[in-house]
Amino acid sequence: MSSEHPLDTAIIPHAWNALLEQTSDAVVLLDSGGVIVGASTLARLLLNRGAEVVGVPFHVFVECAREYPLADSYCLPEGRTVRVQRTHLSDPDRQLLGQLLLLTTSPPEPPPADDHFDAREQQLRDVTLTISSALDIDTILNRVVQLSIELLGADAGALSLYDAEHDCVWTGHAIGISGLTSSGPLLRGTGAVWELLDSGKPLLINDYMSYPRAIPLLVEQKVHAVVAVPIATPHKILGVLGIYYLQPGRQFSGHDRQLLETVARQTAVALENARLYQTALEETERRALLYRASLEFGQVLELDALCQAIHRAAARLMPCDTCVIGLFDAERQEVEYVYQVDAIGVWPSGRLPLERGLLGFIIRTGISLRITGCDPELEQWFGAEPFGEGEQPTGSLLAVPLNIGGQAIGALSIQAEASDAYTSTDLDALETLAATAAIAIQNARLFNQVQQLATIDALTGVANRRHFFDLARREVERAERYHHPLSLLMIDIDHFKQFNDTYGHVAGDQALRAIAAHLRDNLRENDIIGRFGGEEFLVLLPETGGKQAFRVAERLRAAIGVRPVTTDAGEVSLSVSIGVVSCRSAGQALSLEQLLKRADEALYLAKRQGRNQIQVASLYV
Ligand code: GH3
Ligand code: MG
Ligand code: MG
Repeated sequence: MSSEHPLDTAIIPHAWNALLEQTSDAVVLLDSGGVIVGASTLARLLLNRGAEVVGVPFHVFVECAREYPLADSYCLPEGRTVRVQRTHLSDPDRQLLGQLLLLTTSPPEPPPADDHFDAREQQLRDVTLTISSALDIDTILNRVVQLSIELLGADAGALSLYDAEHDCVWTGHAIGISGLTSSGPLLRGTGAVWELLDSGKPLLINDYMSYPRAIPLLVEQKVHAVVAVPIATPHKILGVLGIYYLQPGRQFSGHDRQLLETVARQTAVALENARLYQTALEETERRALLYRASLEFGQVLELDALCQAIHRAAARLMPCDTCVIGLFDAERQEVEYVYQVDAIGVWPSGRLPLERGLLGFIIRTGISLRITGCDPELEQWFGAEPFGEGEQPTGSLLAVPLNIGGQAIGALSIQAEASDAYTSTDLDALETLAATAAIAIQNARLFNQVQQLATIDALTGVANRRHFFDLARREVERAERYHHPLSLLMIDIDHFKQFNDTYGHVAGDQALRAIAAHLRDNLRENDIIGRFGGEEFLVLLPETGGKQAFRVAERLRAAIGVRPVTTDAGEVSLSVSIGVVSCRSAGQALSLEQLLKRADEALYLAKRQGRNQIQVASLYV
């Protein structure tokens, strides 16, 4: 990169974006006033996390570039160098547009050939190279312990990480010592490690067996001497690196301690970088999962399938042993629990008043909850009995509202059996998921409403004419294909014009609803009921031959005839005439249109012959 490079202003933004997106180096773009206007991923991480370059915060380092000439390279204490490349960006008139800083770190120069070169120095360089070469935390830490043991010529070692959230120490990466990793976290006060964590100073104990805060497990394994150093950044302590002698008589020196401190400093940097890198990776993965979930939700219009998709998406993002979705029914001021699935299975849906239950609380308040150790009586806190025996939440729980434009249309909760299973990042991710889920649920509800309007007769609640024809045609084709019997009833209310004239249209409507309800109550689940128009209904009876169809029709007619319908005008009696036709009743397969025509003819006959009766289109099967 030349130091003065005229650039066409127009191509700069494009060139920049491409460069900043693609590079894995730390690259910063400054405008002509020295203000940072762009940064590559690594540079952004360094800037955001307050990382340091050659002992100064990264942003200060970058800002210096505006006023002071930077050297070409800076040596880091451990022998590596940071190379700084600066390019001035100017337009064709040599007007300064800004500058570009590129920082690359390079490994240390190979050691000069020297007979007196200390083998330990060589080992230290090995540690450095190992640490700066990999980004997987576990690999790094295991290698650090291994190389530190070799470096000091010791017998064993372990690296413990400090868990700030729970104020405890997790011992791991133990070499030459058994049982440390499986013995659980060291709580505050246990062992010398806390002395070190509190003081931030290294420890050198050459008579560990008589040390008052010795850990019994280490004493049992004959740890005689310990050197331990903190792994820390300037702002926080990350862990402790301890190296042990198991043979009596061997002692650690001050020089050992210094060496180990150097390793610890490097480890801290590597650990921070690895953690930042890990976070960045997880963040990217999460974003991809959320994006995919939003695409999937958009394609599902059936509420139950949508709830399953939401459950699956949540489970891909975080532990999710139980998933509950409740929707707010504003009319009834209730929460309808439309989806409740746990490890045992699917729970039936239920309803609770808005004032009761966890999801009601979330919907009312609009807040998100993260509970890291659930009380088994959690639901009772919110004024609700649990729905079932195994339903009491234990472990961890996240609950978020399903918001649309700031209004909660419902709430979503997930649970994990383990306590402490969720971080605040999980809660953020679930909120994001809930935002897309809410829109998809709303769409599914609207779609269902529209579909209902398009298929159901508004007055009577039975299938409208078009929908009936769709369903019936399918049944007729099926019956024909498999040679199964099938019958059709055409039902017409007798003298209904007169009924309307006498009792009024409102009572007429009520009578139509009552007849429809009557049909529903007296027919099988598989029978298809439709409103043909006016005061005429159609009933399709699958798997039903002529004789049986006649019996069904007779039952309906008799029942309607004996039971008056209740209307605003009082109890009024009605009768119906029914035309019956059966598929293959004429010895041949009939189309739906033919069936309708014959049923109509039979109905006409029933009317002519005095009404309140049944006529069959042809001979019985
Ligand atoms: P028939 O015994 O020959 O069937 O005589 P009818 O009076 O029932 O037959 P007609 O076809 O002459 O009259 C049908 C009546 O049904 C006319 C209309 O007022 C009434 N009707 C049709 N649709 C509705 C409706 O949605 N609500 C009400 N209240 N009445 C309806
Ligand atoms: Mg009619
Ligand atoms: Mg009629």
